[in-house]
Parts: sequence; structure tokens; C-alpha cells
Amino acid sequence: MAFSSVAMTDARAFHACSECGAHYASASNSCALRFESLLALDHSHREPWGSRHGQAFATFALQHPSRYPTSLDAAWTALCRIYYLHEAASHVFASLRHNATRNVPSDAIPSRPSQPTRMPTVTIADLSTFAAESYPALLDAWSRATLVAWGAAAAVPAPTVPHRGSRT
Ligand SMILES: [Zn+2]
Repeated sequence: MAFSSVAMTDARAFHACSECGAHYASASNSCALRFESLLALDHSHREPWGSRHGQAFATFALQHPSRYPTSLDAAWTALCRIYYLHEAASHVFASLRHNATRNVPSDAIPSRPSQPTRMPTVTIADLSTFAAESYPALLDAWSRATLVAWGAAAAVPAPTVPHRGSRT
């Protein structure tokens, strides 16, 4: 058939997410649809998903910046606090909810770049079925890849910033 050669060469690109680069074999799948599935798990308040909702949302938002422009600063701050200041995610999101950022030294987190510098190496497509036994590790990899995509590896200070001894 006339269209088959075109379909073969463009199959991957045709179903690629323009923001995170995830590839889908079918046009009936997408990052947005997968995120809806994950949100349903998050909102079930079951583990391991419920307690990780904040981190999952922050990661998804940073991988899809044009869809979540007003969430990017909070998402950036949250992931930096988790991965560079080694704060517990639960603590980070609780304090963000209360807008309690005063305990974080102002220079501990670099200002957010205006946009990612490269496509992430892990996307929501790589989280498969969000199975409970693998989800925590996959979420971790997804979040780390997101920071790297934003250039954070070079931009953030070494993780020696005091995070326990800081005044409360
Ligand atoms: Zn995507």
C-alpha cells in the first residue's frame, strides 16, 4: 500500500510527545492519558502511589512545561529540595502546601532555567503499568532524569548544603 512506507519511517516520530519525547506505538496512547491513569492511582490514596502524588505531579509538569507554566517554579523547587537538599518528599510537599519555604536557604536552590536543555532519558512511557513493586524506583528515575534534562546536574550546588542543621 502506498502509505505503508511512510508509516514505517515516521511511525516513531508520529506518536512522539513533543515535550518529553516519549514514543507511543499507537495514537490512542499519550502522556496525558498515562498521567490520568497515574492520577487515578494517586487519588486512590493507596500506596505506593498516594504519598508520591506531589513528586509525580512535579515531575510530569517539568517534563511538559508548556502545559503547566504556572506550576513549574514550585515543581522545580520541590525536586531540587528532594534531590539536592535530600529532604523527604513528604516534608517538601507539606511545606509547599503551607508556603513555608523560609527554612530553605535562599541560595540553596538555583533559579529555574527558562526551559529544559535536552529531552529526558526517562519519560512517563517508561513507567509501564505503574505496578506497585516497581513504581517507587521508576518514579525516582523519572524525577532524576527530569532534573538532568533541565540542566540541574551542573547548575545545583553539591549536596553539602546544610539541610539538617539549618535553623527552624
Ligand atoms: Zn510527554
